[in-house]
Amino acid sequence: MEIYDVVIVGAGPAGLSAGIYAGRSNLKTVILDQMMPGGQLLITEQIENYPGFFDGITGFELSEKMRQHAEKFGAVIENGKPVSSVDLDGDIFVVKCEGGEFKGKSLIWAAGSVPRKLNVPGEAEFVGRGVSYCAVCDGAFFRDRTVAVIGGGDSALEEALYLTKFASKVYLVHRRDKFRAVKIIQDRVFKNEKIEPIYNKVVTSINGKDFVESLTLKDTVTGETSELAVDGVFIFIGNEPNVSPVIHLVDTTDQGFIITDEEMATKTPGLFAAGDVRHKPLKQVVTAAADGAVAAMSAAKYLEEKEG
Ligand code: NAP
Repeated sequence: MEIYDVVIVGAGPAGLSAGIYAGRSNLKTVILDQMMPGGQLLITEQIENYPGFFDGITGFELSEKMRQHAEKFGAVIENGKPVSSVDLDGDIFVVKCEGGEFKGKSLIWAAGSVPRKLNVPGEAEFVGRGVSYCAVCDGAFFRDRTVAVIGGGDSALEEALYLTKFASKVYLVHRRDKFRAVKIIQDRVFKNEKIEPIYNKVVTSINGKDFVESLTLKDTVTGETSELAVDGVFIFIGNEPNVSPVIHLVDTTDQGFIITDEEMATKTPGLFAAGDVRHKPLKQVVTAAADGAVAAMSAAKYLEEKEG
């Protein structure tokens, strides 16, 4: 079986950037992705803080450019390959996924994260019937309807703004009395007449018959409960890292993010982590891409030192 110099898991900005740098260093590189290249870019309508794209660029367009860029330098992209396990056979990484396995002398884990769940009654039951974690995917179903967005970070506020293109009313439900999103986005939210912030409230259940009809909210200050009639609820309360296949090979924080050094190295020689799976102060497309570049150059250095 073919042994790659670098196996990269995840084709978001971190994995694709790693693919560009590894391919350009003449390393035999494969990038595995569970679906198609893009990662969370695919569920982001507009990126307006990636350097050079001052007019903004859609997440889809940016991911397409990154994919083409990685392929231009020889990285092979394998779609539809969700990884189930990673093990070491000597110093070779054996990556098992649907439809087979891939072997690599080094591994860059850039598998990103999944949306955090509220874990309240009705949430799992109404997924696809009013509960969504992706405004770009599902926003258009809520034309002239009332929706709630849950969360107070950049994602919640940006997606609430995006949803005003379709919905007639967007409640923005946050558990505290201050948002944590950057100020420029907060200002846009406060100016938007379709958005009504609801502070100090958590969702305790999502209710309905066939589709979502209402939320039960609990006031975090007074403890009082109330009902909010909505046709849909978009949940943006952060993300949890995809780490389970490599959990035995890395150290993580209490929240499960992989701990690396500045070179993106984990505690296992030859295994590097990049992007949203990694513990770091700023999670952005540009920092994911930077992580990928560093990880690929570190993998190149690791191989050079090992093989001479
Ligand atoms: P985040 O920054 O972690 O914010 C999560 C929000 O959800 C917080 O407001 C948090 O409340 C709330 N929350 C968490 N658990 C909750 C629960 N169980 N019930 C109710 N509310 C809950 O997550 P994010 O907005 O997805 O952003 C993730 C990272 O990506 C951040 O670093 C962000 O800056 C970045 N990002 C950047 C951009 C951009 O630059 N354009 C866009 C999107 C995301 P508290 O505030 O009380 O903790």
